[in-house]
Amino acid sequence: MPLSRQRGDLAAIAVDLVNSWDEYDDPPELLSARWLRRWLAWHGLEAAAEAVSDDDVPRARELRDRLARVFDAADEDDAVERLNELAAELGTPPQLERGAGGWRLRSWPGEEAGVDGAVARAAVGLLEAIRDLGWGRFGRCDGAPCRCVYLDRSRNLSRRYCCHFCADRVAQAASRRRRRA
Ligand SMILES: [Zn+2]
Repeated sequence: MPLSRQRGDLAAIAVDLVNSWDEYDDPPELLSARWLRRWLAWHGLEAAAEAVSDDDVPRARELRDRLARVFDAADEDDAVERLNELAAELGTPPQLERGAGGWRLRSWPGEEAGVDGAVARAAVGLLEAIRDLGWGRFGRCDGAPCRCVYLDRSRNLSRRYCCHFCADRVAQAASRRRRRA
């Protein structure tokens, strides 16, 4: 699926990385050095994007798997535990910084940390999403074979698809079935 529209949103950094394995694509593996550069730059980490090489790919895939397991966790506590572990491993002690909208608590390294630094941000983004929305809002796309992940921010908990392409694809298939019937 395409990268999230929420550029720079910390949780979107996570969602986009997990979705670099996309069952709807053939082959499903999209993660390469080129993909990492596009993902990092999209989320405003230009210096990290420039520094990416092929050597970063195995590490990025490993971290992607760990983030994916948060979506497939046994329950909310399990999801939080996995994310707390990632934040402890990759994050930094909290520092208050001046941001565009006032003070901001930052607990991740600078761009020199590369993919690890991006995933530190991603882990915080998912932790905040659990705090604000609950882990029940973490979903996987219903548009088989796609299994991409999403965060359901809808008011009535109605989201079922990762993106509008999957929603349209499923709707079109259903209408073809109805016409045949
Ligand atoms: Zn999908």
